Amino acid sequence: MIRFEKITKKFADGTVAVDNVNLTVESGEFAVLIGPSGSGKTTTMKMINRLIPISSGKIYIDGEDTDKINPIELRRNIGYVIQQIGLFPHMTVGENIALVPRLKKWPEEKYAGRVDELLDLVGLNPKEYKNRFPNQLSGGQQQRIGVIRALAAEPPIILMDEPFGALDPITREQLQNELLRLQDAVKKTIVFVTHDMDEALKLGDRICIMKAGRVVQFDSSEKILREPANDFVEEFIGRER
Ligand code: ADP
Repeated sequence: MIRFEKITKKFADGTVAVDNVNLTVESGEFAVLIGPSGSGKTTTMKMINRLIPISSGKIYIDGEDTDKINPIELRRNIGYVIQQIGLFPHMTVGENIALVPRLKKWPEEKYAGRVDELLDLVGLNPKEYKNRFPNQLSGGQQQRIGVIRALAAEPPIILMDEPFGALDPITREQLQNELLRLQDAVKKTIVFVTHDMDEALKLGDRICIMKAGRVVQFDSSEKILREPANDFVEEFIGRER
């Protein structure tokens, strides 16, 4: 589904954030990128939707070179959830969720019911929440809206960059469980960045461990725990847990 071929990112100041990375995320897979701060996780993710231009190499989605896709079109087909969720404050919850379907010019009857369905999926009563504004929601509720907003236009791929990083531990755990349930229901291809090993082990079908812009190991959690590729992985999972 997503294939990196010799991807390198060198910033203008000479920093090599991602160094000759090859990786493939399968369709319907939940892949977690993890590694120390500065190891290149966010840069890797943002090259997928081209928020950061690639220095060299190619990223293919379903076999198509993403360089050849109009970036706006590309981003409309890739859901994106970040820590500072950025719901539009002047739009209601319902309008926020319907935004991308509207931009994609879906007819209203196609998404009207979907807004309610998505709110139900994360346990928010549509009648009660659809017409609220973001500042009338708790942090956890805003983050739930962020997640379902990314799903609204049914993109095949969702990128999530530490989406639950700012939440308290209890809300965080609730959202992790909801995300697993959602993933079971909708089977998207998810790339999820975190620096929390417990979160990675809980969510990921496979975990991609990065160090200094390189992929050190990309395996199932069982395999990583059983057969860490090297001392770095061993120390990283030991230290992080
Ligand atoms: P992570 O998400 O793993 O914390 P990042 O992808 O944010 O890591 O950053 C990887 C490396 O690239 C770091 O050394 C960071 O300082 C550097 N970096 C990130 N963005 C820029 C930028 N715009 N210009 C220069 N260096 C950057």
